[in-house]
Order: sequence, then C-alpha cells, then structure tokens
Amino acid sequence: MVSNLSISIGVLTSGGDAQGMNAAVRAVVRSALNLGVAVHAIFEGYQGMVDGGDRIRSLSWDDVGSILHRGGTIIGTARCPVFREREGRLAAARNLLRHGIDRLVVIGGDGSLTGANLFRQEWASLVAELVERGDIDELTAQRHSALMITGLVGSIDNDMVGTDMTIGADSALHRIVEAIDAITSTAASHQRTFVVEVMGRHCGYLALMSAIAGGADYVLIPESPPSENWEQEMCDLLRNGRAAGRRDSIVVVAEGACDNAGGPISSDRVRQVLQDRLGEDTRVTILGHVQRGGTPSAFDRCMSTLVGHAAVQELLSATPTSEPQMVGMRYNRVRQAPLMQCVEQTHAVARKIAEHDYAKAMELRGSSFTEMFQTFKAMAGAPPSVIPPARPRRLAVLHGGGLAPGMNTAARAAVRLGLDRGHTMLGVRGSFEGLLAGRIEELSWGDVEGWAAMGGAELGTTRQAPTVEQLYTVARALETYRIDGLLIIGGWLAYRVAHNLYSERERYPAFKIPIICLPASIDNNLPGSELSIGADTALNAIVEALDRIKQSAIAARRCFVVEVMGRHCGYLALMSGLASGAERIYLPEEGVSLKDLQADVERMIEGFHGGRRFYLTIRNERANAQYTTDFMCRLFEEEGHGLFDVRQAILGHVQQGGNPSPFDRVLATRLAAHCIDFLTRELERGSAAGAYIGLVEGKVMISPINRMHDVVDLEHRRPTEQWWMDLRPVMLGMARPAADAV
Ligand code: ADP
Repeated sequence: MVSNLSISIGVLTSGGDAQGMNAAVRAVVRSALNLGVAVHAIFEGYQGMVDGGDRIRSLSWDDVGSILHRGGTIIGTARCPVFREREGRLAAARNLLRHGIDRLVVIGGDGSLTGANLFRQEWASLVAELVERGDIDELTAQRHSALMITGLVGSIDNDMVGTDMTIGADSALHRIVEAIDAITSTAASHQRTFVVEVMGRHCGYLALMSAIAGGADYVLIPESPPSENWEQEMCDLLRNGRAAGRRDSIVVVAEGACDNAGGPISSDRVRQVLQDRLGEDTRVTILGHVQRGGTPSAFDRCMSTLVGHAAVQELLSATPTSEPQMVGMRYNRVRQAPLMQCVEQTHAVARKIAEHDYAKAMELRGSSFTEMFQTFKAMAGAPPSVIPPARPRRLAVLHGGGLAPGMNTAARAAVRLGLDRGHTMLGVRGSFEGLLAGRIEELSWGDVEGWAAMGGAELGTTRQAPTVEQLYTVARALETYRIDGLLIIGGWLAYRVAHNLYSERERYPAFKIPIICLPASIDNNLPGSELSIGADTALNAIVEALDRIKQSAIAARRCFVVEVMGRHCGYLALMSGLASGAERIYLPEEGVSLKDLQADVERMIEGFHGGRRFYLTIRNERANAQYTTDFMCRLFEEEGHGLFDVRQAILGHVQQGGNPSPFDRVLATRLAAHCIDFLTRELERGSAAGAYIGLVEGKVMISPINRMHDVVDLEHRRPTEQWWMDLRPVMLGMARPAADAV
C-alpha cells in the first residue's frame, strides 16, 4: 500500500447504468477518504473525462450520503464515441492530470473496461504528447508516468467472465421475477400463454434464472439454442403441462436467443408458433428498461459496497508495472482477476455463439450455469425424462422449524425432480406432527404447480420436534408409508431431529434410510451452508423497511433503533446494516456492554452537533438480554438531552413473510436438485447416509449429519465459524469517517 497522501484517484461509471453503481461509488469514495486519499468523481463517464471542467469534481464524505437506495448512478453515465479516438483520450489525460489523477476505478461493462485498458496502455505516449504541446510540464509528466486502473463490472446482464455476479444483475432479476409473478396471475386467470422477453444479447443468465425463479415452462437462451425441432418440442411440452394441471404457460426469451444456425428467435416468432400450433391466446411482454430501473436489491448494495471497498485497496497497491485487475465476486467472496483476461474471455463467449460453437459457449459460462439449465429442463417437462424403474422408490418431503420463504420452491423442485427420476414423491403435511399423525400423501407434478413463487409453506411447518417417546411412532410411520428416503427442508429444529433420527438408528431400524437436510431459515444460522433459503428474502424485506424508515425520519433530528430477527446469529443485522448504511449494529456474537452504549451516545451527540439529521442503529433481537431495544432507546433519548429524539422499530414477522426473492428461489431449486441426486445415489448404492447440504464458498457441499456437533455452537445454535463476520470492518468503514477525513 502506498503511503503517499498526495495521491488522487478518480471514479467513473460508464456504459449502461446498473442498480448498485451508487453503492460502489459510495464505497470507493469513503474507503479512499478513510485512507486519506483524495477522490474525484468523473461525471458522465468518459464524456466527463474528455470535457473536463466541472465534470471532474472532488467528492466529500457527505456527497455520497443517502444514495444506497437509489437506482442508476448519481455521477451519471454516458456513451462517449470520442473516447474511442486518440484525440479524445488525449483530452481526457490532460483533464485528469489537471487534478493530479493517475489512478482510476472504472465501473462499467466490458466496453468501458476495454476502453480503460487502452487508455492505460497509451498513457505514456499521451503524457509525452502533452509535454510536447506544452500542456503539462516535465515534472507533472514524471510524477504521473503511469495510469493505474481497477475495474468493477456494472452490467445487468451478468455477462462478465471472472465474476459470478455483476453489479445490477440481482436487481434486474428482481424486476423480471416481479413481472413474471404478476403476469402469471393474470395468465392463470384467463388460461393464457405469455412470452416474456428479457435483456441479454449474448448472455442467457437473466432469462434462465428468471425462468427458474418464475416457474416458467420454456426458456430460450443464446448459449444453448434449442434443437431443430424446437417449435414442436415447445408446443408438446406446453400441451403436456396443461394436461397435467397448469393454468398458464410462460415462455422466457432472452433478447439474443437464436436457433442452431444462429438465426434469431424473436419473442414475436415464439408467439406466432404458439398461436398457430396450439391455438392459444398468446401475448408478448418485452420488459425493456424496467429491468434497469428501481431500487437496488440488498445483494447489489452489499456486493457493490464490498467490491468498491476492495477496488480502492487494489488500486492503491497497484504499481506502474502491475497488471490491472478487475474486482468481483467468486464463490461468495470478493476476488480479483486480471482485467483484460476477463474481458477477453467474455468476448470469447460471444465469439463462440457467433461461430455456433454452443458447447464451448456453455462451458465458458461455467458448470453451475449448465447444471441449472439441465435442472430447469427436468422440472419443466411433466412426463419423466427417464424410464420409471420397476419398483419406484418412495421419497418423502417435509418441513421443520420456523417458516422461511423459499420452502415451497424447494419442495416443488424436489417433487418435480424426484418424479423426473421415476420416484414416487410423498408430501408430509404439518411437519413432524404430520408424520406422527400419518398426514402423508402422494404428490403429482401438477400438485406443486405455482409453488415456485409462493411464500409460506404449503406443506406446513411447526417448531415441534418429536419427543423421545414419539420416536417409535415416527419409525412406524416411516414403515407404514414405506418411505425409502427423507428430505427435510428447514432450520435448526429440522437439523436437530435429523441428527437425532440418525443417532437412534440402532434402536429403530426404520431410521436406516438416507436422510438429507436442506437449509431453510431466515436466521442463516445453519451448519454447512454459508447461506440458507429465506435469508435473502428477509434481508430484502428489512432493507425495504429501512428505506422507508430513513425517509420518514429525514425531516427530524432522529435516531432509530431497529430490531431485526436472527436469533443468536447476527447475519441479518450485519448485512442489512451494510445495505442500508447504518451507523452502528449490535450483534449477538459481540454482545453489548454499557461502555459500548456510552461511546455510541457520545458519537451520536457529536454527530448531531455536527449537523447530522439521522442516525440509524440496527440491533439483533438477541444482542443482549438486558439491554433491550426499549432500554437502548430510553438511554439514548435520556442522554441526548433533547438534541435528537429516538424511535424504535421492531420489524417482526414481515421478515418471515412475502414471496421468496429470486436468489432464494434459485438457491432452493439448486439445493433441492442436489438433494434428490443424493437420495437417488444412496438408494442405488444400497447405503443410507444422513447428511445436510449447503453452499460453501459458492459450491454445493454435502456434510455428514453425525459430525454436525463438531461445527456448531450448540448453546447459541449457530455455526462456530461464520464467514460473514469478516465483513464487519467494511461496514464500520462506511459508517464512520476517520478523524482526519472529510
Ligand atoms: P459497456 O461499458 O456497458 O459495455 P459500451 O460498450 O457502450 O458500454 O462502452 C461505454 C463507453 O466506453 C463507450 O462509449 C466508449 O466511450 C468507451 N469504450 C468502449 N469500448 C472502447 C474501446 N474499444 N476503446 C475506447 N473506448 C471504448
């Protein structure tokens, strides 16, 4: 890290706008200021760099306040044809040097990042020309002999190789899935068919993930065109779906969808085919710019903050000879990768599509993309894609523990994928109590129709675990209903029961069946998975509520203490603090002391004296048993001596309700597919492992249930190691200026 405090960095957003760019700009500005580095915004992308003047302005801490919730980019973006010419770049170099800027964070798509790299490569010759022309002196040229850049990818398409997510893609998915949900309800009422066109010229990410999350029937993506006979196949599939109970049909088409010969498949062509061959009333909805609009999702705010923060670290450690890096997310962690390598590979995907080498295009997209495409196809078709075995296995699905949005999505995926494998799928109604009472029924493909989008739990869930005395009845139920394998979708309680059943196998041979737990809990406190289903939905609900709370308080000098759920796990508190720009969070992992509270009050008083109008604190419901939300509010109010008022908001069950977020739906589907694979494999092998599944560093992992106690804090019901605890310094860095900053 350079220690030279005379460094000045520039930040710009360029190309297409994307939700979350503001969070990235804010993080860049605040991280730089925290390190004592001056930061300039370059307004309107490269156009502002070429124009100079007041389009390059230094930014203060407060300039980037209250922007997290805003879509688009507050520093503007533009396409700039003149930057493609050397003359334009020469003017840009001159303008940057006027402000002493030779380090840039460029937030944009592959075009913007390519432009940045070209600019960097040319920099020395541009500087030499500026000296020759007498625009700058020798000393300036020597001081700024190299341009260093770091790239962040802002693109709703999620089309960049080298990062699992681009800034804006998750929010775009929110917009699309909201639209598909709305269309589904009207389509179902009239038994209509809808064709929904989504963005993605060379990338089918938005189309595929929204088709999975929206429970669509058919999807067309550029990387994997359908077979030659696709019109017939699509119509057969939709016809079978109708026969199996669907009231609506939805086809999702990426704007770059094409056939095997590379000919475009437009949404209108799909409509025509459906109308002609099925005689169905078919409508087209082209979502267009709606996908770029609206408030950024919680994920986009958090991710953009993290990558923005990391970009500053990266940029300040860069040397004139080091290779420029792109900062993105890989496997649920902030990672950097050589910028131009990523851009080149991204172009390679587009090239492979243009050359009709679709297998290679899919391979370059990565294995989980291909896997999700296969999963989608297996779920969409009503008849099984395999020949049913002579003796179908009987797999039961049930929920356990508190409600988590996404439980229905997981159950639907499990049932459909199980049926696709030729199994008989059983649903247990009413959780473990239902198992004891024998409320077990066979579920068909059509029975789970519409569940992908539904909040709540159609099969029901309770927080009641079977007692030791009831284990015998559980064993009898498993035998009576000839259950060969068990999928338990739920939270801590579900895991505890599964562990218990496994431990009691010697006493009850009926428990010697493969059992797997799928993590579903808004608390995100389960072992073996960095994320559990429901947590993202809850996070979005909290962030939405916090946006409103912030707006409500804007006119007054007010401190808010907002209590969020999570039990003994501070995940929701930390991430919502990161996504909403809270000043202080109280985590159960850290506890709260009187000394902490005193320091907080002092900081509040200092802040309000300094002109602050709002102070947001987020308290996990179990941060401290004595210092309750109410107590903290009274303390702050009392010690504030009228300087500000204090309000509390206990968000309660809004956090558990609502339809699952796109991320939760996709995760639920992915994990359910692996659970069905696991149960099938165990049964084929004749073994009966007990396990729990989850995402660890972005990959699906299956862990043995009998080792569960090795990795959990039983008293506090959470994993011993929690990956997100490492994000605390970033959150604090965004919230509190260093004494010498601003
Ligand atoms: P995106 O960054 O979203 O891919 P564009 O491809 O339109 O969007 O690029 C945005 C801007 O970046 C362009 O208007 C231009 O100013 C600059 N740019 C893009 N490609 C290049 C290039 N090859 N050389 C120089 N500048 C470029």
